[in-house]
Amino acid sequence: LALALGVDLGGTNVRAAAVRLEDGSFAAARRELHADRSPGAVVLGVVRVAREAAAAAGLPAGTPLGVGVAAQCRGGRVLNAPNLAWRDVPFAALLAEAWGAPVRVANDLSAAALGEQRFGAARGVDDAALVFVGSGVGAGLILGGRLHEGAGGLAGELGHVKVGLRPGDPGRPCGCGQRGCLEAYAGGVNLAARLREDVAAGRAGGLAALVGGDLARLGAATVEEGCARGDADALALWDEVGELLGDAVANLATLLDPACIVLGGGVLLGSPRLEERVRRRAEARVLEATRPGLRFARAALGDGAGLVGAALLAGPP
Ligand SMILES: [Zn+2]
Repeated sequence: LALALGVDLGGTNVRAAAVRLEDGSFAAARRELHADRSPGAVVLGVVRVAREAAAAAGLPAGTPLGVGVAAQCRGGRVLNAPNLAWRDVPFAALLAEAWGAPVRVANDLSAAALGEQRFGAARGVDDAALVFVGSGVGAGLILGGRLHEGAGGLAGELGHVKVGLRPGDPGRPCGCGQRGCLEAYAGGVNLAARLREDVAAGRAGGLAALVGGDLARLGAATVEEGCARGDADALALWDEVGELLGDAVANLATLLDPACIVLGGGVLLGSPRLEERVRRRAEARVLEATRPGLRFARAALGDGAGLVGAALLAGPP
């Protein structure tokens, strides 16, 4: 049985798994919380957890074993990871030095797209896009059966396409430094901020009541619950966000002609009413000739998709 070693580096923990390459299941998996978030300590944690997973799966110690890593990185560098308080850390280079065997680092959504395309919702499809709406918005692209990362590893930044700018409206500020990005309207962190702004301005009283006035609890789940209760502010917000996301997905599909678009991320998967609006809008707005060849699916591998994709990038020892 061919096994490969995958790692998923998150903001609070690192996970590693020895993955069976014939079906994507885990022969062994380990997880460790970051005790010390400095780059050097996190790199050592990655090495430790990956070695533990390899040993638990019976992979012989001492052989040079490649490892694939999914991380919030671009071109091997972590440009901005607020949870880790990292800015422009050359993570792939640091890890390669500590690991001593081939290391392949990919963006977490790219790795997740690869996992979903090989073993999940887009299985057997050569052209697929994973559209992720969680705390942020992004995409992973598989084109012609291969992961498409772009010239600088930056392909798939769907959260930073510009939306809905009217003359005279500069648009909402985005974490990337620009204004009018999709993520500034539709990402989970920004959705929560929009709700707090609305409540502070005396609007969305029904949604504030749903969280008992505790504004820190406002978020996508509040809007979803508000829609279930017929709250007009919640319905208007999901209509707007559904249109923005649906148009972006339609544009992505019109541009790339994928056979499958996989919808994932906590905001989308936790908000069926938003997901329905996104699908309907995307289907209505994609080029008509593209529509018959396009299928939508829900992400099937959960938060294990990045680990599986990372292992696929590493390949068998
Ligand atoms: Zn942006």
